[in-house]
Amino acid sequence: MLKPIPLHNQSSWQDSLSDLITDPLELLQLLGIQPEQIDLSMEVLREFPLRVPRSFVNRMQPCDPHDPLLLQVLPRQKELASYSGFIADPLAEQQFNPKPGLLHKYSGRVLLMPTSSCAIHCRYCFRRHFPYAENRPNKKQWLESLEYILADSSINEIILSGGDPLVISDKHLEWLLEHLTAIPHLQRVRIHTRFPVVIPQRINQNFCSLLSRYQLRFIIVLHTNHAQEIDGDVQAACKMLKDVGIDLFNQSVLLKGINDDAQVLVNLSERLFACGVTPYYLHLLDKVKGSGHFDVDITTAKVIMKKLRALLPGYLVPTLVYEQVGEPNKTPIL
Ligand code: SF4
Repeated sequence: MLKPIPLHNQSSWQDSLSDLITDPLELLQLLGIQPEQIDLSMEVLREFPLRVPRSFVNRMQPCDPHDPLLLQVLPRQKELASYSGFIADPLAEQQFNPKPGLLHKYSGRVLLMPTSSCAIHCRYCFRRHFPYAENRPNKKQWLESLEYILADSSINEIILSGGDPLVISDKHLEWLLEHLTAIPHLQRVRIHTRFPVVIPQRINQNFCSLLSRYQLRFIIVLHTNHAQEIDGDVQAACKMLKDVGIDLFNQSVLLKGINDDAQVLVNLSERLFACGVTPYYLHLLDKVKGSGHFDVDITTAKVIMKKLRALLPGYLVPTLVYEQVGEPNKTPIL
């Protein structure tokens, strides 16, 4: 049972964003963990720094170096090991990048990246080596991307991704939505974000009123990997979104040592559903360089899924998928 919904912490989401923990030693100290207890690496920070909101750290178990939330964000020496097939751009996204900040991989859908920034850095992120510096469109380039969408009437859905699209201000988001809403063939805007989970204060009255102004249908796809990530504030954020008619889904990544266990995934699905979120995809890890230690092989994944199906009603079982370069959709694993 979830606890009663508390009021959001009163500090603003911008305050939380400007007060992220970026020093691994501070993070370990806050949790009462000695650096010798874990294979911490400062070297990997140069390429992919630590970023984690304090409210997310509050959900980690003190004194536990194997905490499933901590392991998602802590830079470790394991990232330096080389694993066969793990490369910088596992999804070959750069070949689907016709305009800065725009990816066109799938029929009917275009992905826009309004920012390269995230509120949290997930060590297994498949975009950890993405050339964001070449994908920071200026206003003129944004207008060109919007022209690209306008010119292709087969596009009916925009996916806002990133980085995390909710890093941008409501004012910037409004500018973008005003332009998108003027494109007649667009029906839906899907927002892929970790904000409602990692800084739930981002979902406030202003944001909800902004989305409810448009005729476009909004879908928010959260990214949560473990039930421990979902506290009362996250539940409150989901409720606000549901109250303004936004459909909520969740996608997770199957991660060794974090959620590669049927009962852990059962708890996640149950907790999500209690918040009005439908478990949607469970991704096999994309083979990005530096993340090989999180990999769960396909045989093990199938065994976990079989147990999951036996433990949950079908509507709470996410679809196990992986992304195969060149395929017109995610590939389900049956
Ligand atoms: S929030 Fe998403 S885009 Fe950002 S680091 Fe995590 S997985 Fe990657």
